[in-house]
Amino acid sequence: MSSKKYDKLSIKKKSFWEEQKSTEIKKAFKLAEEYKDFLSKAKVEREAVKEIEKYAKKHKLKYYKNNEKSIAVIKKGKQKLAKGIKIIGSHIDSPRLDLKPYPLYEDTNLALLKTHYYGGIKKYQWVNHLLSLHGIVILKGGKKIEVIIGEKENEPVFTVADLLPHLASKKQGERELFKGIEGEEMNILCGSIPINDKKVKEKIKIAVLEKLNKDYGLTETDFASAELQAVPAGKPRDLGFDKSMIAGYGQDDKACAFTSLKALIEAKNKQTIIAIFYDKEEIGSTGVTGAQSRFIAYVIEELIKESKEKTSLLEVMKNSEAISADVTAGVNPTYKDVMDLQNSVSIGYGIGLEKTTGYGGKYDGSEATAEYIRKLIDLFDKNKIKWQTGELGKVDEGGGGTIAKYLAHYGVNIIDAGAPVLSMHSPLEITSKADIYETYRAYKIFLEN
Ligand code: MN
Ligand code: MN
Repeated sequence: MSSKKYDKLSIKKKSFWEEQKSTEIKKAFKLAEEYKDFLSKAKVEREAVKEIEKYAKKHKLKYYKNNEKSIAVIKKGKQKLAKGIKIIGSHIDSPRLDLKPYPLYEDTNLALLKTHYYGGIKKYQWVNHLLSLHGIVILKGGKKIEVIIGEKENEPVFTVADLLPHLASKKQGERELFKGIEGEEMNILCGSIPINDKKVKEKIKIAVLEKLNKDYGLTETDFASAELQAVPAGKPRDLGFDKSMIAGYGQDDKACAFTSLKALIEAKNKQTIIAIFYDKEEIGSTGVTGAQSRFIAYVIEELIKESKEKTSLLEVMKNSEAISADVTAGVNPTYKDVMDLQNSVSIGYGIGLEKTTGYGGKYDGSEATAEYIRKLIDLFDKNKIKWQTGELGKVDEGGGGTIAKYLAHYGVNIIDAGAPVLSMHSPLEITSKADIYETYRAYKIFLEN
């Protein structure tokens, strides 16, 4: 008997590169160019909202914003809202170093900025990197100043200067890796020329303030009404001899934000479809712009009002389907022992579906129903979309949460699905062009059916 007889019985994992046609591979490389451009323009949530708004305007799509930090884009369908809609929710915040309310100080003849890291980072990864400053300052009276310093070639950059190895063996060598750099050591170097005035005490700090006042009209008090964020400077780059991968900051979760936006724009939909982009996922989806804020409820209630249908938010949600569009951890060959390889996803093998999120014992997670998963994977198989499934690491190794549980509160069926990433939450996250493309295709098919 030929072994072919048994082929259908077990899983045969083949990568996108092995399986897809060359025309599809070409399309994947093409989409990656637009994605890299989006990544470089949408480093922090406010910039992401601006970019998404541009796309929405260009394609004449309706949208609602929440404080310039979260946005929902809508494409209406012919079908009644009460029969259900499709929602894809992603997040546009990424781990970074936020400036403290009063960040600027002078110490031992240098000017520095104090930071408070945002999101789950391994702090030692963030020192000695070229950093740019992004954000806004609201001046007295309400004038908004937008700041981006360190992205253009001729602009200065910033950095957290680490201790040289020659003197680090006691100070750092005896610390655990995660404490190699402590939070209060994440101070950004930002100036060294003093003002020429003998009567002034902190001459370098004053020189920095003088420069900021000249360029932006800012005084030290104005830092209190600012959101200034230090992120890795520069653009994403192709990775590998074959250019099959992308290395760049903020791919968690702009990989899914970008692909869901593209999918919504290009989808031919019968139902009303929504792509919603949240802030604050990295710190627990809290706050006015996070997924716990019920922004989605506001958006759907507005749509109901406008449609004049006699239905309710909960009726719409009960009949709707959603994807929590978030990246997941791909297998890193060097650290594969933290994964159950039979139940983990690999870069280059398509969109990763995660039935469960949460921590040991599935605690605090969201779990998709078997019926819902079957429906989606049948849809993906029918359309030759490469999908894979697994869990985030071995049981009790760690875990993670997403926005899924906050949308599930409304009674909508939801599953986590997104591109696998390597070096997640580091200044340089890695994805495969194959997975960006397959994630986009999967979202589009989902929105259309
Ligand atoms: Mn994420
Ligand atoms: Mn994350």
